Amino acid sequence: MFTNKKRIYLSPPHMSGNELAYIQDAFDTNWIAPLGPHVDAFEKELASYVGRIDAAAVSSGTAAIHLALRLLDVTAGDTVFCSSLTFVASANPIVYLGAAPVFIDSEPETWNMSPQALERALREAARQDALPKAVIVVNLYGQSAKMDEIVALCNAYQVPIIEDAAESLGSSYKGRASGSFGKYGIYSFNGNKIISTSGGGILVSNDVEGLQKARFLATQARDNAAHYQHSQLGYNYRMSNVLAGIGRAQLAVLEDRVLARRAVFERYSAALSDLPGIRFMPELAQTRSNRWLTVLTLDPDETGVSVASLLDVLTEENIEARPVWKPLHMQPIFEGAAYYPHSDTEHISEQLFTTGICLPSGSSLTEEEQARVITCIQKSIITAKSMTA
Ligand SMILES: *Cc1c(COP(=O)(O)O)cnc(C)c1O
Repeated sequence: MFTNKKRIYLSPPHMSGNELAYIQDAFDTNWIAPLGPHVDAFEKELASYVGRIDAAAVSSGTAAIHLALRLLDVTAGDTVFCSSLTFVASANPIVYLGAAPVFIDSEPETWNMSPQALERALREAARQDALPKAVIVVNLYGQSAKMDEIVALCNAYQVPIIEDAAESLGSSYKGRASGSFGKYGIYSFNGNKIISTSGGGILVSNDVEGLQKARFLATQARDNAAHYQHSQLGYNYRMSNVLAGIGRAQLAVLEDRVLARRAVFERYSAALSDLPGIRFMPELAQTRSNRWLTVLTLDPDETGVSVASLLDVLTEENIEARPVWKPLHMQPIFEGAAYYPHSDTEHISEQLFTTGICLPSGSSLTEEEQARVITCIQKSIITAKSMTA
């Protein structure tokens, strides 16, 4: 494979330019540390944006999940339920704590956690007197899960929710910010997310005391003593003041980024929806997705193209695309973990994995670049159709 065509990335960082002023300020004031005025301000601004009382800025979304699980006292021998169709970071912190993940399948309308599978899992756990310490619900590719149903079930069994909104900052569900439904919510500012601090994450909640404890755990759990004294296990997880400055400038353009990604989705949808066998990831009624990534499924019989072959064609054109996340219950590292499918006969996350493809969706993607992606997909599907006709 060799081409001189310019690389089109899946979801590259998109700076506004104003980040430099915040970085300059951090340098001018010499706040070059994992604390400082930009960290405090970023926490307040983000909490206010998503409608929570407080937020704790940390070094990654993964760290935020780890801290949320610690706040819920997850320890060795516990179980934690988690969406199966997600990035491995959603579940890894469960294992950091020696607990066991139980994976819950997706449902077709949101591609997120299936309430009916969750209900079966909770009912069975209650019967065995082994309810999970937490349920981690993921909002995939920007689409909110069915929170009304999931919150009602978790309330009925009194199991707290951690909302993994790493991919859904800027999305809403029935007018409320995605990530604001659980006891704790987490966001990520990794380089590929809708806004980025290069690397970083944040934990949000109305549990102000809990977040204070999260900050304590994130700074090596140092007791209140002049000498270094520690009575609990801590981590070095706080966000740098330099990066929090980048985050503040990025948060100021978040709404523009959402509009740009939604426009990218609309253009794909207008150009490709008429092709046979193509379906876009749905947007649930009364929700607004940030369309972090535009994702579609290909019916190989109707399109004549498999995900693998389309990925090959795009790669040859120097276009970065990806399959949908491999479900965690299928991952070698989680072999043997319990898993609840949507129904006896429907394994929705497995279907989405075999037929789904994520297209370049960055907010800086130009219309010319997007036209290259669209033409490439149209050509491969039309060629495949004419060959089978
Ligand atoms: C990116 C991501 C994370 C982890 O965030 P990091 O900041 O990379 O640690 C967790 N969950 C999901 C669904 C993600 O996409």
